[in-house]
Amino acid sequence: MYISLHKWTNIPFNIFNMSRSKKQNSDNRRSFLRKIGGITLGSAAAMAGGVSLANAAGIKSGDKVKLLSSDGSLIEVDRDDISMASPVPAPENRNREGIPGKKFVMVIDLAKCRNAKKCMKACQQEHQLHPSQHHINVLEMQDTEKTKPYFMPKPCQHCDNPPCTFVCPVDATFKRSDGIVLIDNERCIGCRFCIAACPYSARSFNWKEPKDAKKYAGQEYDIEKNVPQKKGTVTKCVFSADRLRENKLPYCVSACPNGVYYFGDYNEDAVTNGTTKETVRLSELLAENGGYQLMPELGTKPSVFYLPPKNRLFKFDEAKNESNI
Ligand code: SF4
Ligand code: SF4
Repeated sequence: MYISLHKWTNIPFNIFNMSRSKKQNSDNRRSFLRKIGGITLGSAAAMAGGVSLANAAGIKSGDKVKLLSSDGSLIEVDRDDISMASPVPAPENRNREGIPGKKFVMVIDLAKCRNAKKCMKACQQEHQLHPSQHHINVLEMQDTEKTKPYFMPKPCQHCDNPPCTFVCPVDATFKRSDGIVLIDNERCIGCRFCIAACPYSARSFNWKEPKDAKKYAGQEYDIEKNVPQKKGTVTKCVFSADRLRENKLPYCVSACPNGVYYFGDYNEDAVTNGTTKETVRLSELLAENGGYQLMPELGTKPSVFYLPPKNRLFKFDEAKNESNI
C-alpha cells in the first residue's frame, strides 16, 4: 500500500508500507544515520520537506520523531522509518532570478501619511486579497506618551538577510538578485515557519478560499504577482515585481495621493516619488531627513527605509477618520 502524505508528488514525503528483509532494514538504518548526521529530534519538523518515510513493516528502534504532515497535523514516526530524499530542484522559468543589475529599495515618508489607505486598497485589488487581508498595512503608532501619534505603512521589508527564507523547508520562499523576496505558492506546503521567523509580521496565511476564487480559477500562476492566491499557503508583499518588469512603480506607490512613497534602485542611488514623480538621490534623501530602518539591531538589513514623522502635514485625529477601508 502506498500512502502519500503530501499533496504534490514532487515533494518527497511518503509512507511506504511494504515488507523488507532484516538486512535491508539494517542497511537502510545505517544509510539514514550516515546521511542525517547531526540533525536532532527537535528539528524533525523542519526536515519534513526533505525526508521520506520508509520501512513501516521493519524492525523499529522505538526512537520516535515528530513530523508535520501536509494537512498541518503533527505525526509521530519511528526514526527507522525515515530516509533522506533528494532535494527537489526549483522549476525553471519561475522568475526566481531578479531583474539584472537592479537592487530595489523603498522609502516611506511618515510625515506625509494621512491614513488614506489608497496603497492598501490598490494592493488588495491587484493581489486578489479579501478586505481583511493586506500585504501593506497602515498602522497607528505612538512612540511615547509625550509624542504625538502618526500613521505608518508597513509592507514586507524585503530584507537582505531574510530569516523567513532560511527556515522554509521546501525552498518556496527565496530572495532574488534584485533584492525582492518572493513566495512560490505552488511549492509552499503551508507550514508557516516563515511567518514565525519574520520579525516584522509581514506574512499572512490564506486560511480560507481567496477572494473571487472562481474568477481566477484556471489562470496561470504568476509568481511575481502571487496570483491566483491559494488556500493553505502564505502570502505577502512582492514589491509589485510584475510592474517592475514593465519599468513601472509598484501599485501601492502609484496609488498614494500624498507623496508618501519613493521607490527606486539602490545601485543607481535614485528613487522616484509615486505621487509627484520627482526623482531624487536616495543617499541625500536619507541623510538629509534622518532616514532609518525598522529594528536594524536584528541584522535583517531591510530594503525599506523610513523618514521620521516630523513636521506632519495634517492633524492625526482628522486623518484617523479619513480612510473608508
Ligand atoms: S520583512 Fe519578514 S517576510 Fe519580508 S523579507 Fe523580512 S523577514 Fe522576510
Ligand atoms: S509556509 Fe513559508 S516556510 Fe512553509 S513552505 Fe510556505 S513559504 Fe516555506
